Amino acid sequence: MPEGDTIFRAARTLHRALAGQTVTRFETQLAHLARTDTDTPIAGRTVDSVEATGKWIHMRFSGDLTLVTHMLMSGSWHIYRPGEPWKVGRHRMRAVVHTAPFVAVAFDVPIAEFHTADTLRRHRSVTRLGPDVLAAGFDAEAAAARIAMRPDLEIGVALLDQSLIAGIGNVFKSEVSFAAGVNPFRMVASLSASELQALMINARRLLLANVTDNSGDGIVTYFGLRRTTGRSDPSENLWVYGRGGEPCRKCGSPIQYRKQKPDARGTYWCARCQF
Ligand SMILES: [Zn+2]
Repeated sequence: MPEGDTIFRAARTLHRALAGQTVTRFETQLAHLARTDTDTPIAGRTVDSVEATGKWIHMRFSGDLTLVTHMLMSGSWHIYRPGEPWKVGRHRMRAVVHTAPFVAVAFDVPIAEFHTADTLRRHRSVTRLGPDVLAAGFDAEAAAARIAMRPDLEIGVALLDQSLIAGIGNVFKSEVSFAAGVNPFRMVASLSASELQALMINARRLLLANVTDNSGDGIVTYFGLRRTTGRSDPSENLWVYGRGGEPCRKCGSPIQYRKQKPDARGTYWCARCQF
């Protein structure tokens, strides 16, 4: 699943490529998008901005129209020069925005919708989003308080609930829990306000570090001495995620792995470093 930082980066790249450009052509394989395009053509509009909100990408066009795409498990946006071959098969294309300098292609996006400012305000999934970890005004204390409203959840489940906190995916769930020293299977009810805030502060720190890391799209949360610029081996970049049975980078005891209900998402943690 793309993490918030990946989506944030994708939106920023799209914004740099497309903002201010005029759409020369719009293509889609989705009937409901095609219908909007027929009624109110996308071609001729200007791309005003592209922004990430949690796991959603909002591509705003002039004339009060926004293309909202959700990245979920497999969705992605690619940017190509006109005529450049795509890296993904055309059958996986859902929407294409053509401009003179760039072509933006959405592949496999499970949700793609056009909205006006008015329908966007009423769009439940968007309005139900929790505070965005990467937002400029992110308030760790307020975010912690929002998570505390669900004492019945395990914290590893709460961290993935986009209506509580937006932007954390399965990899960062484990990494953030490790960084905060919190066992991801603890109930939210058992966590102190300072533990919840530590989780929020670490979530922002780790995701922000990845957004500002220009080295590529790899997820890098481990800043140990052995990491050198350009080193992309994922086995050296993460604290616990994907490292079941391997020694903890802090204490050496084996990293634990268990699927976490209700969605059976893989969870990694160190039983000695996380309480
Ligand atoms: Zn450890």
